[in-house]
Amino acid sequence: MQLLTNGYFYSLNKNNDIYKAILIDRDKIVDCFFNIPTISDVEQIDLHNKFIFPGFIDAHTHFVETGILSLGADLSLTNTVNDAIQLLKMTKPIDGIIIGYNFDQYNYDEKREFTYKELNSVSKTTPLFILRKDGHSCYLNEIAFNLLKLNPKTVGIITKNNKFCGILRGQANSIASKFFKSQIKNDGKIIAFYKAAELAINKGVTTVHAMLGDAKNDLSDLLLYENIKNELHIKIIPYPQVFDIEKVANLGYNLIGGCLLVDGSFGSHTAALMSSYADSPGNGVLYHSDSFWYNFFMNAEKKHIRVAVHSIGDRAILQILNAIEMAKQKHSKSNLQHIIIHFELTPDYILDKARELDVQLVMQPVFEYIWGGKGKMYEQVLGKERIMQTNRFRSILQRGLLVAGSSDAYVTPIDPLLGIYSAVNHPNPDEKISKLEALRMFTTNAAEVSGDENNLGKIDKEYIANLVVLAENPLATERIDKIKIEQVFINGMGLVLRGV
Ligand SMILES: [Zn+2]
Ligand SMILES: [Zn+2]
Repeated sequence: MQLLTNGYFYSLNKNNDIYKAILIDRDKIVDCFFNIPTISDVEQIDLHNKFIFPGFIDAHTHFVETGILSLGADLSLTNTVNDAIQLLKMTKPIDGIIIGYNFDQYNYDEKREFTYKELNSVSKTTPLFILRKDGHSCYLNEIAFNLLKLNPKTVGIITKNNKFCGILRGQANSIASKFFKSQIKNDGKIIAFYKAAELAINKGVTTVHAMLGDAKNDLSDLLLYENIKNELHIKIIPYPQVFDIEKVANLGYNLIGGCLLVDGSFGSHTAALMSSYADSPGNGVLYHSDSFWYNFFMNAEKKHIRVAVHSIGDRAILQILNAIEMAKQKHSKSNLQHIIIHFELTPDYILDKARELDVQLVMQPVFEYIWGGKGKMYEQVLGKERIMQTNRFRSILQRGLLVAGSSDAYVTPIDPLLGIYSAVNHPNPDEKISKLEALRMFTTNAAEVSGDENNLGKIDKEYIANLVVLAENPLATERIDKIKIEQVFINGMGLVLRGV
């Protein structure tokens, strides 16, 4: 047994108790104390008046992809197209592919995407695959494009003068992303699991919700995870990311999806909007018909499986809410809580409908930090009025909806303290939430999404001893994003953090 003493243990239970010491037996918290007790025969660990919170939970990640991409070139470290090309030229290929990630033209001086000539200058002989920050566009050199052997009729091949110009979006981007990921062998994927786990633990995360699958029928990542899960320190809540409900039911899961795409993204102009984009014609894409989603939810309800989908624009969110409503009318006794990931553009009537249907939300406050507010991407693509309707945390909590926090890694880095900071400092003052509410998004609320509210997300008796030790109190400082993470405990075991 271990007695952790002399700290401020923020339980996040309903009384918001703050303990002075906790007793741990193997992986569980067995007692909590308001005053430091005298107990003999236990190992005592002095936490020197530090601030201890439940280990953070990131409720939506592309976990394997985060690990794989982190082995490539991080283009967010560059400020110009030319710097990005130079960095890519110096990047070592992984399983024969040069990988770049975190590309966002809005962050570059030139405010433009790559030309085909620039992409081909990186290499004539090694395939190059660059993923846009939002994962909804990618950039290829000629050898990569030829290797992909795309059917020329595929939607999303961008051309100039009838010739491919290096950019893929929509369906073509999805095919390319899957293809280049499939080139990474199992050994590389196992390294990716460990790499992503290390990135998460270093940021105080003890549990991640991870999509494992290819958004089609391939569950090999899930099977790989089953083989190595006991060796990974971090706890993974797996989401079988496929469309095959039967297969998922047979494997014994009661949850399907994660980023099953209802629409695309704002930055790629593929998120489905009720009215057109402010900076270009068109109002985005719905990837499937109303009847497709209705049947999907019907089948899921039949097997008693919860569905999680990616839905960003108001038109896409409404399409899903309508499908859920119709499926629930057929299964009148159903109390399944489906999950909408992102839920970014939401006028009031959408919030009210989501409340009626009791859906759970998994959102990314860092999106607002990167793209929200004056002069940033949301304003450019949505216009001044609609930016008052993005990532509406305050309005969501007011309606009693459950919202968990996530990074959507690789889209933004796994970093709950930055997420909490972003929710507290929402550029729209009407949608700011308190520090405690934001902390709950990444602890208690996230635990509830996976039905783990009785064993994860709090520091209390009977809970798993997953803890994050912080140098400063996030409830008492403004720069929550700058707080140093001192230590992390997972299953009662104190881990030494590397690179922090
Ligand atoms: Zn998504
Ligand atoms: Zn995602």
